[in-house]
Amino acid sequence: MIANLAQGVQAFTSNVYLVTGERTVLIDTGANFNVVDAVRERVDDIDAVVLTHTHRDHVGNLEAVETAFDVDAWGYDPSVDGVDHAIDDEETVQLGDHEYVALHTPGHKNDHLCFYSADAGVLFAGDLVFQNGSFGRTDLEEGDRQALIESIDRVLDVIDEELAEMHTGHGPSVSSQPYGHVELSAQMARQA
Ligand SMILES: [Zn+2]
Repeated sequence: MIANLAQGVQAFTSNVYLVTGERTVLIDTGANFNVVDAVRERVDDIDAVVLTHTHRDHVGNLEAVETAFDVDAWGYDPSVDGVDHAIDDEETVQLGDHEYVALHTPGHKNDHLCFYSADAGVLFAGDLVFQNGSFGRTDLEEGDRQALIESIDRVLDVIDEELAEMHTGHGPSVSSQPYGHVELSAQMARQA
């Protein structure tokens, strides 16, 4: 089960995905809203926090979550404050009931990761791409448009055209032809 705990929240926050199953994981913590209560409404406990990247809107609630559930956080770069354990490029990570491959995908931020499970048919895209050909902004510190384009191309190489669901760091998830949305983002990022 994948639930977006930030759905309908009016605050400067990213989406927050609670992935339940064998290993219950929170993907990003969001910011500026009570995510701890939102987790507790659904589950008693979580096993880990996994971060797509460490922009403020994705990690603002991290300390509150770590304290409330006594959990550690995993991310690409453990030298960043709050990241306890490293996930390397192409490392396998269990989220819920499925194994996902982590894809280091810089361009929006240096420590950006996407997570893909061919089994589940699911991509967690973070702020790399969004629905309808949108893509992560590259005008912030560590932003790099060429790197972003290469990261999108890499994700397109790895994911299956039959991808069932894409869950993004902002905006709605895509469950109708998400592969086409990623292709469009690759085109749009080149034109902008
Ligand atoms: Zn971001």
